[in-house]
Amino acid sequence: MLPQSELNVPFCKKLDNIEKMSTTATNFPSGLKPLEFSTESTTKLSQKKVLDILNKKCLNSLQYLRQVHSIILRTGHFQDHYVSGTLVKCYANPHFNNFALAIKVFDQIPRPNVFVCNIVLKGSLENGEPHEAISCYHKMVFLNSKPNKFTYPTLFKACAITGSVKQGIQFHSHVVKHGLSVDGHIKSAGIQMYTSFGLVKEARKMLDERGETDVICWNAMIDGYLKCGEVEEAKEMFGCMPYKNVGTWNTMISGLARCGMIENARTLFNDMEERDEISWSAIIDGYIKQGCFKEALEVFHKMQREKVKPRPYSLPSVLTACANLGALDQGRWIHSYVKRNSFQVNAVLGTALIDMYAKCGRLDMAWEVFEKLRVKEVSTWNAMIGGLSIHGRAEEAIELLKKMQEEKLKPNSVTFVSVLNACAHAGMVENGIALFNSMNKVYGIEPKMEHFGCVVDLLGRAGLIKETERFIESMTVKPNAAIWGALLNACRVHGNVELGEKVGWIMLDMEPQNSGRYALLSNIYAKAGRWGDVTRVRKLMKDRGIKTIPGSSMMNLDGRVHEFKMGDGSHPEMKSIYVMLESIMKKLQMEGYSPNTSIVSFDIEEEEKETALKQHSEKIALAFGLIHTEPGTTLHIVKNLRVCEDCHYAFKLISQIYRREIIMRDRVRYHHFRNGMCSCKDFW
Ligand code: ZN
Ligand code: ZN
Repeated sequence: MLPQSELNVPFCKKLDNIEKMSTTATNFPSGLKPLEFSTESTTKLSQKKVLDILNKKCLNSLQYLRQVHSIILRTGHFQDHYVSGTLVKCYANPHFNNFALAIKVFDQIPRPNVFVCNIVLKGSLENGEPHEAISCYHKMVFLNSKPNKFTYPTLFKACAITGSVKQGIQFHSHVVKHGLSVDGHIKSAGIQMYTSFGLVKEARKMLDERGETDVICWNAMIDGYLKCGEVEEAKEMFGCMPYKNVGTWNTMISGLARCGMIENARTLFNDMEERDEISWSAIIDGYIKQGCFKEALEVFHKMQREKVKPRPYSLPSVLTACANLGALDQGRWIHSYVKRNSFQVNAVLGTALIDMYAKCGRLDMAWEVFEKLRVKEVSTWNAMIGGLSIHGRAEEAIELLKKMQEEKLKPNSVTFVSVLNACAHAGMVENGIALFNSMNKVYGIEPKMEHFGCVVDLLGRAGLIKETERFIESMTVKPNAAIWGALLNACRVHGNVELGEKVGWIMLDMEPQNSGRYALLSNIYAKAGRWGDVTRVRKLMKDRGIKTIPGSSMMNLDGRVHEFKMGDGSHPEMKSIYVMLESIMKKLQMEGYSPNTSIVSFDIEEEEKETALKQHSEKIALAFGLIHTEPGTTLHIVKNLRVCEDCHYAFKLISQIYRREIIMRDRVRYHHFRNGMCSCKDFW
């Protein structure tokens, strides 16, 4: 061992540099005083005492840690690998966000042993610097320090993250050389690494190598098969496994769901004898990824009935389901559950809450969450700006964009979609164009198709059809169906039959399978009374075998999602709903409403058309809501298609006659009906 004095002097100088290097000045945590040891007492500090101080008191304060560090140097404990390793571990705490400092200290340790090296390996992953792990290993090899079974799982992970295939294979050969391939942990980490590279065969070879093959290895292999899309192999292995644990089932469930086989996943879920909260969130997540929000929420209810407590990490996805279904009550339940359990609301959960409240029509609650949230990410701002946008609150959305920049956060391409949308909905043409032009010039964001679409919508809504056409011609990218769709919609609203016809036929060529495009074109013809052309479009659609998507509307009441389809008599309360509908119609007619039959775009008798209109799913849902809620209650409806002109007009009147606020989300946007008006200003 080197004499202390020789080691200490140069290192203390280096420590000075380290202190200068670090920019974060951390204050002493409350209740902790700076260490004040006399020279005598520090020399007497035992190894145990030093380790104790490091492990207990150096977790939060970098300044404190530095002071302990200098004592360690003074007392010669730095020579002790347990002490110096623990010191490195403290510096590597991700809380300090300064892994370079940990590496500096590590580099000062003479001949670090495997204990110290493993600490650096682990720290590099925790700090999101996997490359450091690989270079630390090279140093280990150079210094002849023998790796152990804790070394390789971390290295395999680092290779998986960085996609270092060659390196990974080399590490595997070292594992074999050191006789460590029998270890279960190393095996499962290796299997995960290989499958992350898509090398299923190599993974399988590793599984079949001699040594321990525990359930964790099997689970890793099943997961790998499913990640690589080899469903049959996964099923076969699952079927013949000698022993399964809950993790095995969970792996299968989430893997199958990821492969789009949600039915199979559900069957397995139902067959499980014992489930944990991961099983529940796996199936809920699976449904959400497939867009089956109703099913997701049903499982969530079942989970509550079975008294399984959801963990905080599973809540954002459930909130997504609530947002998509407009299920405000359930969303609120989750929020109060979070409060009751004092869960920390991090940026992800906060963003999900904001999104849910905004999409369920409660901007006030969204604001509240937004303002209380301490850590906001760009996505959080986007959620709030997007929320304002869908409710047509353009000024506030732009205001928030400014505030975001004041907080030194850079808006991204999603932010601009929201703000431009907001401008479009509020008819703020000049602002919108100015923002669009600033994207590239000021923010360095290349406008994408969505942004072009927003501008087309912006101009089209304002009735500037000529400008819209010119803008489309000037676009740097070839317009896609969405762009033409926005123009077509503008033609519909502003009654421009000539251009609408032209664009409509372009669209039918571009997207022959999209039933909505046929509907839009036939609407344009119907509005102009050109029934022959309506029939022509209908016939073409029939000949091409395109089926219309049936309209369906959902309403949330007492924690249940009620779904209504057009002309659907299956709801148990259909009789009373029709009675209510009749009475609504009478009141509407007294206010001068006459059904807008021009939009029923097929050639049938007027009376039949009226019946068809009356049976639109959103009207049925609304009648149901009026029956089952107290006067004055706001009604929330979610529709799968674009709301029709007749329903829109009727809803405006109903909001006035019945003094109800109605918040309806259709496929495209939000409609907030109040006092005979709609927030969309009749453009959607
Ligand atoms: Zn309708
Ligand atoms: Zn509207």
